[in-house]
Amino acid sequence: MPGSLENNRASRLLVVDDDQTFLLMIRKVMSNSGFIVVACNNGEDALEICRDITPDMILMDVCLPGASGIEICRQIRQTTDYATLPILLVTANSDREIVREGYEAGATDFLTKPLDWNLFPHRAAYLVQAGRAMGELRVNRTSLATAQRIAKIGSFTYDAETQESQWSSELYSILGLDPERHRAHPDTLTHLIHPDDLEHVKAVSEQALRDSKSFSIEHRLVLHDGGIRHVRHYAEATEDLMGTRVVTGVLQDTTDHVHAIDQIRYLANFDGLTGLTNRRQFNARLTETVQHARSSRNLVAVIIVDVDRFKLINDSLGHSAGDQILQVVAERVNRQVRNSDCVGPLDGDDTDVEIARVGGDEFSLMLPRIVHPTDAGPVAQRILETLREPIDVDGQNLTLSASIGISIYPIDGETTETLIANANRAMSHAKSQGGNSFQYYTESLNATSTRRLVLESKLRNAVEQNRLHLVYQPKVDLRSGRVIGMEALLRWVEPDLGFVPPDEFIPLAEEIGCISKIGRWVLLDACRQNKEWQDRGLGSVPVSVNVSSRQFSDTDLLEVVTEVLEETGLEPQWLELEITESAMLEDEVATTQTLKLIREQGVRVSLDDFGTGFSSLSYLRRLSLDTLKIDRSFVMDLPDDDDAKGIFEAIIVMAHVLGLVVIAEGVETEEQRDFLHSIDCDEIQGYLVSKPVPPDEFAHFLEPDAQGSK
Ligand code: C2E
Ligand code: MG
Ligand code: MG
Repeated sequence: MPGSLENNRASRLLVVDDDQTFLLMIRKVMSNSGFIVVACNNGEDALEICRDITPDMILMDVCLPGASGIEICRQIRQTTDYATLPILLVTANSDREIVREGYEAGATDFLTKPLDWNLFPHRAAYLVQAGRAMGELRVNRTSLATAQRIAKIGSFTYDAETQESQWSSELYSILGLDPERHRAHPDTLTHLIHPDDLEHVKAVSEQALRDSKSFSIEHRLVLHDGGIRHVRHYAEATEDLMGTRVVTGVLQDTTDHVHAIDQIRYLANFDGLTGLTNRRQFNARLTETVQHARSSRNLVAVIIVDVDRFKLINDSLGHSAGDQILQVVAERVNRQVRNSDCVGPLDGDDTDVEIARVGGDEFSLMLPRIVHPTDAGPVAQRILETLREPIDVDGQNLTLSASIGISIYPIDGETTETLIANANRAMSHAKSQGGNSFQYYTESLNATSTRRLVLESKLRNAVEQNRLHLVYQPKVDLRSGRVIGMEALLRWVEPDLGFVPPDEFIPLAEEIGCISKIGRWVLLDACRQNKEWQDRGLGSVPVSVNVSSRQFSDTDLLEVVTEVLEETGLEPQWLELEITESAMLEDEVATTQTLKLIREQGVRVSLDDFGTGFSSLSYLRRLSLDTLKIDRSFVMDLPDDDDAKGIFEAIIVMAHVLGLVVIAEGVETEEQRDFLHSIDCDEIQGYLVSKPVPPDEFAHFLEPDAQGSK
């Protein structure tokens, strides 16, 4: 039966006509075909019926009493529910003007009387079916639009031939554009793509569209209000039946998603309390850095800082105070380490220094590219110092301390795990020693001594092969301006190590027991040189030779001096020995006795670096001395520092009372010289006059003309 064809329920046909015969006919025919026929004879009744029942189709005469069928059709169409309802208008004649008006009013089609009663039921059944399908499509469209709005998906089409684009309302909303003011066009979209993403988006989309492939790409948009949106952009090009290329695509707003991922990433890699990286991220960075260091042969330091007695603080002051303290610790450590002043050894670049909070009260640092294992120590020291500054917690002043452990790649381990484990062991060791200190993991301590081992063997060779040499620095009398002496200073330049400072290799030579051998050679070479200058007729001034305290204990210094003077033929008054207070510490009685005997030979004795050791007056009385040499550290502060000035003046007065000559070492400026002159200092030595120079250069100071001009 046509009225129920493929339908679960019988279709309702509303017939509006004032022709009673027609109504009778249609009721009979259509009922027989399974339709439920509802009839009325004017437009007003029809509107009433439409409100009560939902017809599946309306068959309506154009000429009705009261409002015309066309008018009623228009009114019915205004109800959204009836937007797709088939409305057939019936006319007695096919007046073109009426037909046009009817279609404009929303009529589905026109029929002229008399109807073909055989055909009409079938026609009606299919119209009803089409109307329902249209209705469903409408519903689907609406649900799709709703779904797109919820999923924040906007869709577009673009016809390459007509260059026309259609955008869904959701697309306008994603792009922050007003459909009334902005034209749907690919260029409008392109203008909104983030400049940094534009090139990539263009390349990918143009390539895909050329090859008739689809593409899917994520990029950013910059909206007109400056807001940034993240979108997933998907499109494909197809050709329609006419061969026209049509691009269809969607843009999904993924901003919330991207922000959520950023947030997750932040939570996964950073510590919420301090904003520092967390353990996970630290380990990842360390692994990367170690890999890099493997090829670049850098050293990397891992430093673990554990706040001492933090649990106690937390328990007694509460967690919120504990949190506050940890934030301060994080901030201070960060500031210290990022401050390039204190990270001298880090190559001046602190950007890849990593600082992390890896546990409750535990922080980790990574110093990439350090030059020497000992470079990490000063950083640890600065951290200890900065933590010692008082912290104000709710009006209470607290001072913190920490235990710090250091491990060095590759000496203490070649993997992240080993380096961290060993830094932790070193930290625990520092803690077991009472905290407030840092400790290296032992292997790196050994490595610090690796340089020592290298130096040691090379120094032995250099001594054997007589590859050390002497330079000379003049001493000047402040009153006459004349060069009245010189100090012999030892130099060691090793082909692959370069210049090794005496402050580094002399203590080593003392430890390994070759200082006496070196000392004898220095004495011999200095005396030989001085004799040679005198023999050449250059001015005769004494040469001062530094003597290590070990030379007193290990050898008979008197014997050595006597032998050397004999061997070189230098008269004793042209030799002066510079000793330090440490010589006194070993065996004061023996040393004093030796010095006394040496002086009796006519050799002069000077006390070097005065002011840095015990500087006790009693020494000066007991010791047999000629000269007091005041340490450079006092001279450095002249003439601005009042303390240094006061000390200097006092030393000079005291020394003069004891009959000692006073010489200041390390004089670099004229102001220093003038001040020293004004307080009656006798002699000076320092870069102001000359740096230590090789013998042939020094000879110029001894020439008669030079002497006159000093
Ligand atoms: P020292 O005996 O106090 O020697 C003075 C040091 O000060 C020398 O350093 C010298 O180069 C440096 N100096 C002199 N004038 C100035 C100046 O105006 N400014 C600055 N910044 N420095 C100045 P050097 O040659 O590096 O020697 C360091 C130390 O090594 C010496 O200190 C001495 O204790 C020891 N030493 C050097 N040669 C010998 C040696 O033959 N035997 C022994 N036992 N020790 C030596
Ligand atoms: Mg000296
Ligand atoms: Mg000195």
